[in-house]
Amino acid sequence: MSAPASQSSRRRFIKISVAGVTGVLFSGAAQAVDTLSESDPTATALGYKMDATKAAARKDPTATCSNCALYSGKQGAADGPCSAFGGKLVSAKGWCNAWAKKA
Ligand code: SF4
Repeated sequence: MSAPASQSSRRRFIKISVAGVTGVLFSGAAQAVDTLSESDPTATALGYKMDATKAAARKDPTATCSNCALYSGKQGAADGPCSAFGGKLVSAKGWCNAWAKKA
């Protein structure tokens, strides 16, 4: 009598686990396509601008997200993920105070 109950709870556990993994996968995919807004509190704190020429604190005129070490967008793409902002998409022509020259 106890065996069916055990199997049932194991099945329930597996169903819950699969639902949890699926939820994580979908939320990860949703985050990957999020575009960083200039008004995002973290973006504001780091002085992120979608157009690097509008960033007053930028000293190097050649510095843009596309040549930043934290940027992982494809070459030639309009935008790409930035690890400083949890993988949110930033403009290839953007800039922020966390800019670091790509090696
Ligand atoms: Fe752009 Fe680099 Fe700042 Fe990310 S860390 S927003 S890639 S300049």
